[in-house]
Amino acid sequence: MEVQCPTCSAEFAVPDTISVVTCPYCGTTFKVESKEKVGEHFFFPPIGKDPAGLLLKFISREYGAPADIVDARVKEKILHYVPVHFFYIHGNLMGSTAEEVMFIGIPAVRKFKELLRDYPFPVIGKRFFDENIVKKGKYYEPEIDRNTAEKEAISKVVAAIREEARDSGDRFSEERLNLDVHYQGLVHYPIWEVHYEYGGEEFHGFIDGADGRVIEARYPMTSEARKKAGVLGGGILAAGIVAGIIFGTIGGVWGFLGGFIPGLAGAVPILFKSAHRIQTTGQIRRVYEHIHFRP
Ligand SMILES: [Zn+2]
Repeated sequence: MEVQCPTCSAEFAVPDTISVVTCPYCGTTFKVESKEKVGEHFFFPPIGKDPAGLLLKFISREYGAPADIVDARVKEKILHYVPVHFFYIHGNLMGSTAEEVMFIGIPAVRKFKELLRDYPFPVIGKRFFDENIVKKGKYYEPEIDRNTAEKEAISKVVAAIREEARDSGDRFSEERLNLDVHYQGLVHYPIWEVHYEYGGEEFHGFIDGADGRVIEARYPMTSEARKKAGVLGGGILAAGIVAGIIFGTIGGVWGFLGGFIPGLAGAVPILFKSAHRIQTTGQIRRVYEHIHFRP
């Protein structure tokens, strides 16, 4: 059967047997029959995979990782249940085309603020809170309340609208701002912290417990890989200088820069990698999901 979301008006199909549903576009959980919104406390169930295996396998495919890193000794695995306030915000600027629709999660404990900054949380998959999870991991009470989190979420939407208005040549003003804010609840989100030992040193990583993505991983780069990166980066830089000199004889300073800058831009990330023995990596793109757009 088709249902329409009471928050964002999106229409989608659900099985006839279901009585409570979460909108896949804005995260509102509501009763199919009455459209009544339900629940303010949820959690995401963790997937059954071993987080240490996921972490080490991911690292083993990264540039310069030791070949035997998958056999590293796992020292500790901690499951954190991090409270996150979720909002669905629709904002626009009257008399302008600037409009933003955002699903935003604001972490409610300071310890995870930086790790989960602008984190692309999933819209669906949450369940009603279950007391049993408190015993299964490290459980945190929120330190940041709903109102403070709401202010932060709104400021992100306003910043995006301001930028959009500027890009289209409109002048931003607070008086013309329209905001429609929906609180989608407090969600305890599973984050795995894994510590492993390699070559007598300890490293760590963070895994999204709900979908297994590597949020952040640290690993030692082999000295051969660092040397190779140094030689490669130096080569690209040298090629850039040669190109700069060639173009410079034709186009003067601008010709030199036109030849040299692409070489420099290519060389810098590689030289940066070669200069750091301990690498930090991950597979998360920190962006907001723009759910849908209805002018
Ligand atoms: Zn919705």
